[in-house]
Amino acid sequence: MPQSRPPLTIYLAAPRGFCAGVDRAIQIVELALAKYGAPVYVRHEIVHNRFVVDSLRAKGAVFVEELDDIPDTDQPVIFSAHGVAKSVPAAARHRRMFVLDATCPLVSKVHIEAARHHEEGLEILLIGHAGHPEVIGTMGQLPEGAVTLVETAEDAERIEPRDPKKLSFVTQTTLSVDDTASIVAVLRRRFPDIVGPHKEDICYATTNRQAAVKAIAPKIGCLLVVGSPQSSNSLRLVEVAQRAGCATARLIDGAGDIPWGEIENIESVGITAGASAPETLVEQVIEAFRERFDVKLETVTTAQERIAFNVPRELRPTPSSAA
Ligand code: SF4
Repeated sequence: MPQSRPPLTIYLAAPRGFCAGVDRAIQIVELALAKYGAPVYVRHEIVHNRFVVDSLRAKGAVFVEELDDIPDTDQPVIFSAHGVAKSVPAAARHRRMFVLDATCPLVSKVHIEAARHHEEGLEILLIGHAGHPEVIGTMGQLPEGAVTLVETAEDAERIEPRDPKKLSFVTQTTLSVDDTASIVAVLRRRFPDIVGPHKEDICYATTNRQAAVKAIAPKIGCLLVVGSPQSSNSLRLVEVAQRAGCATARLIDGAGDIPWGEIENIESVGITAGASAPETLVEQVIEAFRERFDVKLETVTTAQERIAFNVPRELRPTPSSAA
């Protein structure tokens, strides 16, 4: 007789997983491979997900950290979704590289904002995490010293601008909405003339995924976030769940990382995925639960997303190829 499996409710957060910027970046690599053949060089992980990077590598993408790691070539060189400092396209031009830029348009928007503040003579504060490629890219839009990084509310309390009346701020796109609101509140209190976006530059996908986690956190004993450890927006989902009262929240790369020991005696589990994690990994996680539990699946939808970004012109179908 088959053993009866214990009941478990899985609350599936929606939206979760791929955002429009990640979808576009992956499409750019795949279309470039289809059009120009392998190898296609990609500077930095195209998006922060091990599964995505490994599958593109298997199709012929070659991932490098710096342009210096790429031999002289006519093959495409792709910049990752996180964006790059101005020095990177300049170096690529110098080497006459054929560049396809997969920078998310929402990151490019922050670059443009920062450049505009700089042209207007404002000192710029960037709210973000030191060392993240997006932060390196945004700071690298302007000359050294033009942008100061603010990581915490304590940093915001301490910062001494050159002229408090000539100050602006921009933010990384994948931050915690709540943490960033506290930092912005400190800056607006200390520097009432500071110029910045209405709230911050956190993108729609980061905001929506955090809101969905907040909606399921009170119902669950454990949240699993499918995503890789380098993924900023995935790490923030773990923190959001913990702060919303979820006793256990874990980042997992896939079904193989499910912390079964922590799930014993739990009646409900939440599942979400960071913006760079493919849905197939979520499906595998659910399948692994079905093998051990009698699963009832409930999707909790807090927003509908219909955003899509165009790929670069070189990769769009020409009228003849589309026919
Ligand atoms: Fe763009 Fe946001 Fe996705 Fe980053 S998380 S690629 S900013 S849509």
